[in-house]
Amino acid sequence: MTKRTLPTLDLKRGYARIKDEIDVAVKEVFESQYFIMGPTLSAFESDVERYLEVPRAIGCASGSDALLLALMALDLKPGDEVITTPYSFFATVSCITRLGATPVFADIDGDSYNVTAESVLSKVTERTKAFIPVHLFGQMVHLEKMRSELEGKGIAIIEDCAQSFGSWREIDGAPVRSGSYGVMGCFSFFPTKNLGCCGDGGMVVSRDQALADRLAKLRVHGAGTTYYHDEVGLNSRLDAIQAAILRVKLRHLDRWNEERRAAADRYKLLFAENDLLDLVTPPSEDEGNYHIYHQYVPRVQGDRDGLVDFLGKEGITSRVYYPVPLHLQRCFSFLGYGEGDCPVSEKLSRQSIALPIFPELEADEQEWVVSTIARFYGKN
Ligand SMILES: *Cc1c(COP(=O)(O)O)cnc(C)c1O
Repeated sequence: MTKRTLPTLDLKRGYARIKDEIDVAVKEVFESQYFIMGPTLSAFESDVERYLEVPRAIGCASGSDALLLALMALDLKPGDEVITTPYSFFATVSCITRLGATPVFADIDGDSYNVTAESVLSKVTERTKAFIPVHLFGQMVHLEKMRSELEGKGIAIIEDCAQSFGSWREIDGAPVRSGSYGVMGCFSFFPTKNLGCCGDGGMVVSRDQALADRLAKLRVHGAGTTYYHDEVGLNSRLDAIQAAILRVKLRHLDRWNEERRAAADRYKLLFAENDLLDLVTPPSEDEGNYHIYHQYVPRVQGDRDGLVDFLGKEGITSRVYYPVPLHLQRCFSFLGYGEGDCPVSEKLSRQSIALPIFPELEADEQEWVVSTIARFYGKN
C-alpha cells in the first residue's frame, strides 16, 4: 500500500472537474492560431471588467509585471517612496526598487496579517507617491479607513490582489471587490492562485481611463500604434491560451471560493473539537470581509518548524508564508531596516503555518490534518 499523502494544493483534482471545458477552450485557440492579443484576450478582459465592475482590465504576463506596469504608469522614479507591507511575497516590493524608488514598510496587524490605517498613515511623507496594500491570503485590507486621506495627498493606491481574486469587503453598506477600490488593482494568475491559469499570467485593472490607456501601451513596448513607440515599455501580454482557460475558470470561481470558505470553517471547528485553541489560533475574518482563503494560515505556539517536519513525516505538506519578512531580506539590506523594526511581521514569520486548502479538500483529510497536529502537541 502506498503511503497516504496530502499536498497543500492539489491542482489535478481541480482540473478533473473542468477538464472537458478547458480542453474545448484550448482547442479553439489552437484552431484560430491567434496567440498574442486578439479576441480571446479581449473577451477575458471584458469578463473581468464585468465581474469586478471596473471600466478597464489589461492582461499582462504575470502578477509581478502587473505591479511593475502599474508603478511605471505612475512614472515612479528615484526619490519617490511607496508604502507597503513587509509581510508578503517578494514581488510586492521588488517592483518598487526596480524603478529606483524606495519601499517604506508599515507593520501589520497580528490577527488579519494585513496593514492597518494607523501604521500606513504614520509612514506618509512628502515623498510618498503610492501605497501598495496586499490583501494577504485572500482577505481585504480596510482601505476605506485610509483612501480619502491618501488620495487627498495625491498618493495612488495600487492594490496587490494576487491572492484575492473574488474577495470583497462591505464598504458604506455595499460589497466592494478587491481591485476595484484603489486607482489600480494588480492580479496574478499563477497556477496556484484562486483564479490560476496554466503558466504565468497577470492583469492590471483601473477605474482611471488615462492610466488604463497608458498601461495598454506599456505592455506592448510603449507603442500606441505598432512600430511607433511613444515611450519604452515592456513586452508583457497575457497569452490567448491562458485567457481562454481563465474564461472557463472565472465561471466557476465563486463556487470554488465558497468551498474554500467551508473548508476554513471546518478547520476552525476541528481545532475546537480537538481542544487545540490554546495552541492554534485560526485565521480571523474581519467584520464585513468576504475572505477567500487563498491560504489557510493559523498561528501556532511552540515549535512551529518542528510541527512542519512532523506533518511532513506523516505525509501532510504544510508551508511557511513567509519565513523572512521583506524588510529583513538580504537584497533590501541597503534600505537600513533591522530586526525589531516590524515586530508583528517578525513574530508571525515565526508562528504562522499554511495548512492544505483547496476547493476539493475532503472533510476526512482535514480531520487527519488536525488530529495529526493534536498528536504533535500530545493532545491525543
Ligand atoms: C503571487 C504573488 C505576486 C506575483 O505574481 P506572479 O504572477 O507570480 O508574478 C505578487 N504579489 C503577491 C502577494 C503574490 O502572492
